[in-house]
Amino acid sequence: MKCSQCQQADTKVIESRDVADGEAIRRRRACINCHYRFTTYERIERPQLVVIKNSGVRELFNRQKLLAGLYRACEKTTITNLQLERLVNQVEQELQACGETEIASTMIGDLVMERLAQLNEVAYVRFASVYRHFKDITSFEKELSDIRKRKVKQYVTD
Ligand SMILES: [Zn+2]
Repeated sequence: MKCSQCQQADTKVIESRDVADGEAIRRRRACINCHYRFTTYERIERPQLVVIKNSGVRELFNRQKLLAGLYRACEKTTITNLQLERLVNQVEQELQACGETEIASTMIGDLVMERLAQLNEVAYVRFASVYRHFKDITSFEKELSDIRKRKVKQYVTD
């Protein structure tokens, strides 16, 4: 666990406790180098999900990889790391709940984008552009107009 202030890799755990009905562990940490204090939420491991990529290749579901992609998409937006952790938790729970151990990567992407669209439009578009590999500006604009329509619909039904 790297310190975000000085990039030092050694941190010590000051306190840990279970949160979210035992789904995660909250850890208070302090950097050994600069004494910066921060909190991490670590999810308790469940049976591994297998992701089937578009190419047909199977790989283990990697929560950190998904989070890393989301952090990048959400840089310089108002979305917090905690919101992203929650988003990934929800997606993971939904995947576990569907009872399948092998999941198409497109399904995961769709679940993430659905939630991201509600959090922040900029982050959504950034994530979608990497994930969907937009071929041209037209398909990109279509995606954007679709999400705006969805937002209006939500507003109306709320
Ligand atoms: Zn530090």
